[in-house]
Parts: sequence; C-alpha cells; structure tokens
Amino acid sequence: MTEYFEIHDRDGPARRGELRLSESVRTPGLVDDYLVDAGSEWTAERDLPEGDESMLTVLPHRGLPGGTPDEVQEAFTVDYPDVDFPSAAVVSSDTAQEQGTDAYILSNAQELAGHAAAFVEAIIETRAAIPSDTALYLSGVATPGNVATLAYAGVDLFDTDKAVVKGTQGKYLTTDGEAFLEDLDELPCACPACQTPRSEFGREECAEHNEHVLRAALGTVRERIRAGRLRDYIEGQARHEQWLTATFRRLDQQYSYLEQRTPVLRRAEITAATDDTLRRVEIQRYAERVTNRYHCRFDKPLVLVPCSARKPYSESQSHGQFHDAIQYRAHLVSMTSPIGVVPQELELTYPAQHYDSVVTGNWTATEIEFVSDILAAYLESNEYPRAIAHLPGDYREIVERAGETAGVEFEYTVSDHPTTADSLANLASTLSEETTYMKRERQHNTLRAIADYQFGDGAGDDLFEDLAVESRYPKLRANSTDGEQLAMLVPEYGLLALTLAGGRRWVESDVPTKRVEIDAFVPHGSVLAPGVVDASEDIRVGDEVVIEGPKAFAVGRAEMSGPEMIDSTRGIASTVRHVEEK
Ligand SMILES: [Zn+2]
Repeated sequence: MTEYFEIHDRDGPARRGELRLSESVRTPGLVDDYLVDAGSEWTAERDLPEGDESMLTVLPHRGLPGGTPDEVQEAFTVDYPDVDFPSAAVVSSDTAQEQGTDAYILSNAQELAGHAAAFVEAIIETRAAIPSDTALYLSGVATPGNVATLAYAGVDLFDTDKAVVKGTQGKYLTTDGEAFLEDLDELPCACPACQTPRSEFGREECAEHNEHVLRAALGTVRERIRAGRLRDYIEGQARHEQWLTATFRRLDQQYSYLEQRTPVLRRAEITAATDDTLRRVEIQRYAERVTNRYHCRFDKPLVLVPCSARKPYSESQSHGQFHDAIQYRAHLVSMTSPIGVVPQELELTYPAQHYDSVVTGNWTATEIEFVSDILAAYLESNEYPRAIAHLPGDYREIVERAGETAGVEFEYTVSDHPTTADSLANLASTLSEETTYMKRERQHNTLRAIADYQFGDGAGDDLFEDLAVESRYPKLRANSTDGEQLAMLVPEYGLLALTLAGGRRWVESDVPTKRVEIDAFVPHGSVLAPGVVDASEDIRVGDEVVIEGPKAFAVGRAEMSGPEMIDSTRGIASTVRHVEEK
C-alpha cells in the first residue's frame, strides 16, 4: 500500500510523480532534505522510529556488501514493520521483495553506477520485485550527467551526495560530463554560485554549483517525461558518457521491460536523429504490427512511394501528385526511415504521423537493413498482382534487397526524381490498364485495416462484419448496417475509439479482448486503480479496454498497463468513454 507516493505521468519506465510528504517533493527528484535514517541494525538493536509526515523514514535495516551470497542475504533479511508514516526499506536487487513501504533503497547502488550491464540487470530485477507504484531510490550516485538515463531506467529518487563530494574534490559537473576546476578558463554556467569571479571560485562554490546543475537536470528530466520525450533527450545527452550510452542500449535489449511501460500512442513527436531510434519500442511495435497484423484488402497493384516531410503524407504536395497519377488504381505504400512501410490506410496511425527524421538523401547501413527487412516481411504477408517502385535512386538498394528476399519483381517508374513530369507520366501510364476502386471501398478498407492493426489480426472482419461509414476522412464513423454506431476514427492517432456496441462486438469476437474487471460500482469519467479487481496482462497505456463489473459495462482508454492496474493503490487506471448500468 503506497500512501505517500503518487505517479502522474509515465514515459517508458520513467515516471513523473510526487512524494506526498507534508511538503510535496517532485520526482524524479532529490530527497536528501526529507530523509531520516533509523540506522543499521548491525550496530545496535534499533527501536522503531517515531516517524512523521514531513519526512521519509528509512526503517532499521541491515546493509550487506555487494556479492553476499543470496542465502546469507535471505538469512539476514529484516522483516519491515507496518508503519503509518512515509517509509523506505533498504533492499538489494537479489533479494528485493514487497515490504509495504512507499520507497525502496537499493543497497548496492554505488557499485552499479558506471557498469551498464549490472545496473540494468539490478534495476529490472528490483522493479520486478517491488510494487510498480512505489518509488525507487538510488543513493550516492546522481550527477547532472547521469540522472536522465537513471530516471529513464525507472529510478525516482536521488540525493546530492555524489555531486557535493565531487565539488569538494574540485570536479565541476555539467550535463555533458565533468572537468577539473583548475582546467577551466571560464565557468560555463549562469547559476548563483558561478556568479563568483573565476579567481575566487573555489571548491565550496564548485560543490554549490554541482548541486544547482543537478537540480536543473532533474527539472529537465521531469519536463521531458511530462511531454513524453525523455527518450529523444537521452539519445543525445547520454552519449557524453560511455556507460550511459551502453545503459540505454542494453535497456533496448530488455524489450519486454520497456514495451510493457511504453504507451501505444502519444501526442509527442519522435525525433529520429540516430540509428538508436530504430530500436525504440514505438518503432519496433509498429513494424511488428504492420507485418503481422495488417493485411491489404485492395485487389490492386502496389505502388511504393517516398514519405513526405509533411504529415499525414496525403496532405503533402508530392503525395497529391502521386495521387493524381494513380487515380484510385493502386494501393499506395510509403517508404520511410525510421518507420519502415506505411500502407495508405495507416498514414494517421501512431507513430506514422508523429516522427521527424533527418533527411540527407543517404541511408545508413542500419537503416537500409531495417527498412528492407520490414519491406520483405510486408511483401511476404501481402500478395499483389503487380509491384511498382516509384522511388528515388537512394531507395533502390532497399527495394531490390526486399524484392529478392520475398520473390517479388518490381517495375520502376522513376527516371530521376518521383515528382518530375516524366516520372509522374510514367507512373500514370504504367497503371493505364488498371481499373479504379470506389471511395466506399477505400473507407471500409481503412477502418478494417486500423482495427486489425489496433486490436489484432482478424479484428477488422470481426468488429465490422457489416459496416456503413459515415462522415468524411479522416473523421470516419463506423456504423453497423442498421445504423448503430460502433466506433470512430480519432484522426490525431489514427486509432479507433469504440462505442458500447463496438465494445460488445469485441467481447463476442475471436480477437482477444483487453479487459478491466472492476468491483460492484458504476464508473463515471474514470476507474481508479483500487477499484480494479483484475486486468489483462497485455493492456498498455493508450489501449482501448472493455471495463466490466457486477454493476456496469463500459469502454474506455487505459491510463496504466494491465499489471500496473492490478498492482497500484493510487491513480487513474482507465478513463471511461461510455458506460451502461447493469
Ligand atoms: Zn554554476
């Protein structure tokens, strides 16, 4: 039970929240001013401290050196008492378990800093062992350079110990590393301590500066989490220290840890500036869904075109020209890094219209491999009567590689650039014998394709077995043929929002339903975590969910992952869009 810690925003494993002491402490943040340590039980039999709401009390503990065998650690494990004030338990990553406290302090934190593999393993083990709505505290490790990556991994609480010690040693810290004070000609900072003239700036001022910069770095981290953009920041900032770069790359290898904590949609854009972006959960998840869940319903030739900087693509000038040449005679699929392939029905779907990449006209070897692998998988799972590549020369290697793997022969229609009059005329004449499809077919295919992508293979046919489409793209409404509304397309994310009737079809379909089981009450606006009895393991933030209890049937959107809904004692588990009393 966590009474004194609350999470407000999640961004992957990072969380922005507060320690609810009599004075609220923002997290990720510094906790030194709010800490009382009841001490180690090695030195004395400790009485249970009094504790009060203004401080986080560290309960009496036994710190054991790192590398202590598990059986020894277990033998010496302290049974923490239940207390009614804000408390923290000291645990080691090997033996951590739920203790009923608000925070957990990792005893071997200082041995982990600097060692990417050990750090990632310890954080993942500890996070798996303690409730998700409790704070994780790493003592004596924070620097302005490393807090963003540590918070990204899932650490909530820090202290100024290391920054202050470094200052007294004459090490001047910044978010891009550290320098010896004596080596600095000028002070590259505008904090109050750095107002001291360079000649009078000593170690005391240095320690003060380090603390200022650490506080500011944590402010940046919190704002990044709130905006859903911590990862973009890390990909640049972590590069200044090798072990931090290694840490976020090793975290990328822990896919399920990250995936469970990464929302299926965001308002924020993804900045694709490095090959590391290709390993982001959002990118991998899209690739997985477009190659496994999506299938093309058009019975027309495939036309591959380059993406446009403007999103959605169909609103760009180049795509307007492609459209004029194609005239509803082919299925348009855009090629892009870092997303891979985007069939026209999914152009609105997160993250297809939510990224911005660096365009140089040259692909890196990693991009070529990534995009051609996705294209090959796409071609293997979708059969087209013809395949046309209307792409500039730098895409040629990708298309040839994928075509070879999938056994697809491409026709090429671009002589120099895709939007020249010659190239466009070529594209139009290549399609001159083809028949056109109807607007209705396009709308139906779009809604069904999005349902497949969002809910799983087969959802488009199951949910929209009979379908009548209302309104204009992109604000499409899906009705049954007898006029009952089932869902609407949300243009910002290119995903469907279900009605109660749509939710019932989902429950009755063969597609696995994401369910939130609640107690006997009728939810209005939202369901809070304590009201959740059970939830599907695979629910992610942003997923559509069916909410059901003895008194209500509802549909809404998840604000927490399934495991977190079950685990948490605070916070909104899901919003509620429509509810019906039973
Ligand atoms: Zn300064």
